Amino acid sequence: MRYESVIGLEIHAQLLTQSKLFCGCSTRFGSAPNTQTCPVCLGFPGVLPVFNRQVAELALKTALALHSDVPPFSLFARKNYFYPDLPKAYQISQYELPFARGGFIEIDLEKGGRKRICLTRIHLEEDAGKLIHGDGPDSVASFVDFNRTGVPLLEIVTEPDIRSPQEAKQFLQNLKAILTYLKVCDGNMEEGSLRCDANVSVRPCGQKTFGVKTEIKNMNSFRNVQKALEYEIDRQITMIEGGEDVIQETRLWDADKCLSFSMRTKEEAHDYRYFPEPDLIPVRIDGAWIEQTGRSLPELPEAKKSRLVKEYGISSYNAQVLTSSSDMADYFEECCRIIDKPQMVSNWIMVELLRELNRDNLDIASSPIKAKDLADMLKMMDDGLISGKIAKTVFTKMYKTGKKAAQIVQEENLTQITDQSELEKTIDNIIRENPGPVSDYREGKKKTLGFLIGQVMKASHGKANPELVNRILIKKLEDRQ
Ligand code: ADP
Ligand code: ZN
Ligand code: MG
Repeated sequence: MRYESVIGLEIHAQLLTQSKLFCGCSTRFGSAPNTQTCPVCLGFPGVLPVFNRQVAELALKTALALHSDVPPFSLFARKNYFYPDLPKAYQISQYELPFARGGFIEIDLEKGGRKRICLTRIHLEEDAGKLIHGDGPDSVASFVDFNRTGVPLLEIVTEPDIRSPQEAKQFLQNLKAILTYLKVCDGNMEEGSLRCDANVSVRPCGQKTFGVKTEIKNMNSFRNVQKALEYEIDRQITMIEGGEDVIQETRLWDADKCLSFSMRTKEEAHDYRYFPEPDLIPVRIDGAWIEQTGRSLPELPEAKKSRLVKEYGISSYNAQVLTSSSDMADYFEECCRIIDKPQMVSNWIMVELLRELNRDNLDIASSPIKAKDLADMLKMMDDGLISGKIAKTVFTKMYKTGKKAAQIVQEENLTQITDQSELEKTIDNIIRENPGPVSDYREGKKKTLGFLIGQVMKASHGKANPELVNRILIKKLEDRQ
């Protein structure tokens, strides 16, 4: 029997505010534990939360970019549970009246075509603290860092519209691109500023009703989401084929072991006893605010991708890679303003530059080679000042030293030799030193030409203009027949 998987995602995106959701504490990542806390986020009795307006601004941008409906007001609710990382013993979240409902993200399907993944809701909530388990001064101990407590999160819940782990990964990549274009979230899954829980079930192909789902948590990269889903789908199919029932439960993904294990079953699930938060008034979003925010949205990944294809004539694949971040698209466009060769520019960015950046785990924004400097170097190559081979050497040196191409070319005397008489001298030497291949050529073995060109290029340390070498060499070889 063939099976189909059904997947719905719950994503938490940390909003890029300076201060927390209900207090003035900093949200900076990586500070010493418990240095960014106050009575409000530590849940002291008698304190009152104050809503951070910037959070509404960022949530509104996101909701509009995702085509969601933003009602005139939303409400905060208390979600009660007891855990050491939650000092108030409740989390302020939204329940019955979320910030936004509906909306969608489109993904490209592997077999071609596009598909819409619908969103159920988008709501605001505060983050919990972080437990650290390790060695204490005297014994093994656990610690809690409350710096993250009260940091604003946007929770985005999808409908069960996703049909494969690959689609889930594509959805997350598109969502991350949108969030980072909007500058509402830094999208860093390793640092936890973008987190994803995945709900998955399987059913025989053709069956209308959904199967029993499980929820998988703790995946901190796109790759892990895909791998965890693949594992879970296999596990469920094996159970069903073996006559067992899938039970509704929450499972944790272990990336090192490449497997998931049960965390809690439905019976152990929390009863959150949601009730309206009495200390906060509704968040009101009026039409004028929506309209103004709608006008301020930047060009989003999809629109940018189509524009790059149309305006620069590059392939849709190249456009997809170049628009994976707005910084990369900006980089590409800045280069093209200096040298009007989009195909060449996109190749150099995607092959040469991304190889170096990926190896060093760097974003294009922190590339040692700035867009203008890459474009200037490509222009030197395009103008024939340096050969394509030398361009690669210059590129590597630029990346390593941060120097500009013109400086490297001058310091190392790498300018392409286009001086005819100088090249003729070198070529005469090569002809004299290689009588064997020369006479082979003259007897009709034209293949030796490549070898002789190689010798000339080598003698010129790669600086000879290859076209010129080709022309002069052929002339000299044929003339003397
Ligand atoms: P719960 O009550 O367990 O939180 P929800 O109905 O709120 O479940 O859905 C939570 C997430 O699970 C949503 O993203 C939804 O799309 C997804 N989901 C719901 N039912 C299924 C199912 N049978 N298979 C896969 N995903 C599902
Ligand atoms: Zn605080
Ligand atoms: Mg639910």
